[in-house]
Formats: sequence, structure tokens, C-alpha cells
Amino acid sequence: MRKQEVSALLIGRFQPFHIGHLEVIKTISRQCDRLIVGIGSAQLSHTFENPFTAGERHLMINRALHDEGLDNYFLVPMVDINRYAVWVAHVQSLVPPFQDVYTNNPLTRRLFEEAGYNVRSAPLFNREVYSGSEIRKRIISGKEWEHLVPKGVAETIIEVGGDQRLRDLTREHSYEVTI
Ligand code: NAD
Repeated sequence: MRKQEVSALLIGRFQPFHIGHLEVIKTISRQCDRLIVGIGSAQLSHTFENPFTAGERHLMINRALHDEGLDNYFLVPMVDINRYAVWVAHVQSLVPPFQDVYTNNPLTRRLFEEAGYNVRSAPLFNREVYSGSEIRKRIISGKEWEHLVPKGVAETIIEVGGDQRLRDLTREHSYEVTI
């Protein structure tokens, strides 16, 4: 019989996936047998807050984790349902069984705790710079950003024209971006 394995769940939007996310995944994956990475708000793309599609994010994360030699993970895109009371059941229907949840998002924490899960805080790594919004702002303003993301993520963003997309979106929609 197979031994009982411990699976942990981490959900994020990963817009884009950065070195802080990678560090937290490396830490969590040492504490479990299998890590499930939920790619949240999978329906969103082409906005300043959510510029990348679920497929693009899938590719970025897969490349970054593969380059780190990690292989004990599943990547699962998750569309928002915006009915908080049944969101955990929605997540359960999409992913393999899991025991632990890692998050710093207060709403995610509350919903999983109310459903009886063991919720842990994900350790933060240099949040001021390893932050999706900081990286998006840097891309828009032409500042260096590639060093804040794993190599495979930078390659994916450039390959799909994501840097130009962000700049175009900001211009077209006149987003207020404070640099
Ligand atoms: P995010 O990509 O901003 O963050 C993902 C995780 O990484 C978070 O736990 C965050 O704290 C962590 N992180 C970020 N920077 C880090 C750093 N420098 N070092 C270490 N860890 C770092 O994603 P998010 O906004 O938290 O995503 C939550 C997702 O869950 C969203 O897609 C949201 O829509 C979804 N959600 C949906 C519902 C619903 O539809 N009903 C309910 C709750 C949550």
C-alpha cells in the first residue's frame, strides 16, 4: 500500500511569478510530499493588475520550477467564482486532495480555516521588491525588472510580448501608475 502523502496548497495570481514566490515554494516543498500551486483568477488577463493569461502563467511557473529541479508539484488554473461561501468546495473540486494550505491573503485564510483546514502563513521574502505590482510598474516605466523574476519567467514574458502588452494597456487605459 502507498504511504500516506502530505499535500499542501498555495494559491496566488502570480502576475507575474517572481523570486519571492519561488522562495516560498522551495520552502514549502521541503515540508510536504506534493505541492499544489493554484493559479488564481485564471479568467483574468490583459489588465494592469492581471496582465498575463492563465496559460502564460502556467508556462512561467513550470519553467521556473523545472529550472530549480523541482518536480513534486501540480499547477492548476482556478477561475474565480465570486461566491465566497462555496469557494473552498470549488477549489476542492479542481485539485488533488490536500491537507495544508499556505497563504498570507486574509480572505483565503478565513475561507480555508472556516472549512477546517490547517492554514499556515507563507514566509515573505523581501516583499518590497519581490512584488507583482512593483514588477509591473518597473516594466511600464522601463526600469530593470528581469532580476526580480526567475530566468524562465523573464523569457516567457518577453516571448509572449508581455512587457509591451503592459505598456500598451497602461497607455490605452490611462492607468495611474505611481513609480
Ligand atoms: P499573489 O500572487 O499576490 O500572492 C500569492 C501568494 O504569494 C500569497 O500568499 C502572497 O502572500 C505570497 N507572496 C507574494 N509575494 C511574496 C514574497 N515576496 N515572498 C513570499 N511570498 C510572497 O496572489 P493573491 O492575490 O494572494 O491570490 C489569491 C487568489 O485567490 C486570487 O486569484 C483570488 O481571486 C483567489 N480567491 C478567490 C476567491 C473566490 O473566487 N471566491 C476567494 C478567495 C481567493
